[in-house]
Amino acid sequence: MLAIHWDAVNGWGQPNIKPYGPLQLDPSTTVLHYAQTLFEGMKAYRDDGGKVTLFRPDMNMKRMNNSAKRIALPTFHGDALLELIKELIRLDRHWIPQEPGHSLYIRPTLIGTQRFIGVAPPTEALLFVICSPVGPYYPNGFKPIALYGTTEYIRAAPGGTGAYKLGVNYAPGVLPQKQAAKAGYAQNLWLHGSEHYLTEVGTMNMFVVLRKDDGAHELVTPPLDGMILPGVTRDSVLTLAREHAAGVKRLPNLPEDLVVSERQISMNEIKEASKANRLVELFGAGTAAVISPVNRIGYLGEDLHIPTGKDGMGPISRPIWTELVGRQTGAIPSDWSVVV
Ligand code: PMP
Repeated sequence: MLAIHWDAVNGWGQPNIKPYGPLQLDPSTTVLHYAQTLFEGMKAYRDDGGKVTLFRPDMNMKRMNNSAKRIALPTFHGDALLELIKELIRLDRHWIPQEPGHSLYIRPTLIGTQRFIGVAPPTEALLFVICSPVGPYYPNGFKPIALYGTTEYIRAAPGGTGAYKLGVNYAPGVLPQKQAAKAGYAQNLWLHGSEHYLTEVGTMNMFVVLRKDDGAHELVTPPLDGMILPGVTRDSVLTLAREHAAGVKRLPNLPEDLVVSERQISMNEIKEASKANRLVELFGAGTAAVISPVNRIGYLGEDLHIPTGKDGMGPISRPIWTELVGRQTGAIPSDWSVVV
């Protein structure tokens, strides 16, 4: 693991790569009481020739610094941390499984470590990075999931912390997730406001595809209004779809009549589109699963059925997924892939 201490007097200390092991924390350490903790999630891929790459890691470094700023933890030089993470991955490269679809999950974390009872910006902090081999999310083909349109709880609110990858955003989602699972749904569909605008799916960003009056496909995702985590996968899906729509780089098998919208979309609009046979597909997007197709939403006591393609994926998500995974694994060359 990589560990770097920080204190308000001396700033960042000497980075240290050392064997994975427990942290020793005093019981009064602020992270244990006031959730002064944030994290990132990224993957390192190894291609057939042994080359190891990261996918758009600059975005993770930027997001981590934004998270740090939001809870008054120290910020850092993103490029410098990335170089240290690369060094750690080079040492641990034998942990990246050879099998297709496998990768090394990398978890950078930053915690407040001051020993102090009281809420204040911590005068001491620890940045550490741990790694774990991971297999493919869908080893046996895509399996669409059912969502529980959650009206009892919220994930984020205007002016809150939903747009940051803070530990404090995750613990409150565990009970709603447990209740959704008990009712037969895989994840919570997080809604906002009296209009029940769709925001995120479990711990993924969310996309809907609608067929418009003129027959064109509209790919919709909620805007980054402070309640949505700015996902790396979200941005990648949007960029690929926009480049395709503009004719800059057409993706094979993706309909040409694609319109890309970052706008709010309510449960009512989803229901109306479903009734009018204009709901094409709905999916989650994130580093862990890449794309997660959805086939059902439980909402106010009713089940809404969402179309899925014959292999579980829809006509828009399938070609985007193919390009995205190609670029992630290095099979499709792109400047999003960064050599370790
Ligand atoms: N939303 C939430 C709440 C998340 O935790 C994640 C995973 N980091 C995402 C969206 C997807 O982000 P990314 O594509 O960067 O993994």
